[in-house]
Amino acid sequence: KDTPVTGSKRVLLAAPRGYCAGVDRAVIAVEKALERFGAPVYVRKQIVHNIHVVSTLEKKGAIFVDDVAEVPQGSHIVFSAHGVSPAVVQGAADRQLDAIDATCPLVTKVHREAVRFAKQDFEILLIGHHGHEEVEGTMGHAPERTTLVNSPADVPNIVVNNPDHVVWLSQTTLSVDETMETVRLLRQRFPNLQDPPSDDICYATTNRQVAIRKVAAEAELVIVVGSSNSSNTMRLVDVALEYGAKAAYRVDYASEIQQEWLDGVATVGVTSGASVPEVLVQEVLDDLADAGYGDVSQVVTAEEDLMFSLPKELRKDADGNA
Ligand code: SF4
Repeated sequence: KDTPVTGSKRVLLAAPRGYCAGVDRAVIAVEKALERFGAPVYVRKQIVHNIHVVSTLEKKGAIFVDDVAEVPQGSHIVFSAHGVSPAVVQGAADRQLDAIDATCPLVTKVHREAVRFAKQDFEILLIGHHGHEEVEGTMGHAPERTTLVNSPADVPNIVVNNPDHVVWLSQTTLSVDETMETVRLLRQRFPNLQDPPSDDICYATTNRQVAIRKVAAEAELVIVVGSSNSSNTMRLVDVALEYGAKAAYRVDYASEIQQEWLDGVATVGVTSGASVPEVLVQEVLDDLADAGYGDVSQVVTAEEDLMFSLPKELRKDADGNA
C-alpha cells in the first residue's frame, strides 16, 4: 500500500546529463557513414554503450560485430567511441577494411599519454575496470608496461619493477571520488608516483557526477537512465547513493520504473549517462508526471558547449579532399 507523501511531489533534473561530445560525434559518424557509403556499415563493438542507440542504428543498416575478423573484406568499419588498440587497427588493415575511427578524442588523449610514458620507460598503473573496451584499447597501446588497477583493493598486490618510475592513468568514465582514493593509496605505496599531465576522467563524467551529487542530497529516490554496460551510468547510481539518495535505480526505459520505488517519495532525482539520448529521459519525465511528479526543476551545475569535429575519414568530400 502506498505510503502517503507529505509535501508536494517534485522532480529534480540534473544538468548536465545525457550525451557528451564524444558520444554525439560517434553516433553521427555511423549515421554519416551509412549516408555516404550505404548499408551495411560495420561497427566494432557497440558504438556507445546504450541499447536504444545501438538498436536504432541497426534499423538504419549498421551491423555490430565483436571482432574485425567477422567483417567481409573491403567493407567499411567504424571503431567505437571507447577506442581500440593498435592490434585492432592492424587487424582491420590486414582485411583491407576501410576504417572510420570514432574513438573519442579524450580517449585518444589517454592513448597518447600511455605511449609517451611507455617510451620514457615508466610503468603505467591504469585505473579502470577489467574487461571494459576502453581499458583494453588503452592497455593495447603499451601492453608491456601497463598494469590494471581495478579498485582500491588491488593496490596492496601491485608489483612493479621500479617503484620510483611509475605513473597512473585512468579510464575516462570512473567515479571521481573512488579514483582519487585509489591514487591516494597508490601514492602511499609509491611516493614518487607521477600524475598524468591532465585529468583522464573526462569533463562529461565529472560534470554528470557533480550534478547528481547536488540532486541526490535533496532526493529520496534517484533514477538514472542508461544501459548496464555503461560505466559512467553505473557510477551515477553509485554517486547518488553516496551523496544522500535513499535509493537509486538504473533504467534503460521508462517502462522499467516500478511503482513501489515511488512509495513515500516526495522528491525524485533524474539524470542520464553520457550515451543516453534525451528522448529516453523525456519518457521518464512523462511517466513521472503521470504519477503526480509533474513539477520539474533543473539543477544546473555546469554549462557544456564542447563539440568535436567528425572523424577525419568523414571530413573528406566524395573526391577525397579534406
Ligand atoms: Fe569522450 Fe567522456 Fe564522452 Fe567517453 S564519456 S565519449 S571520454 S566525452
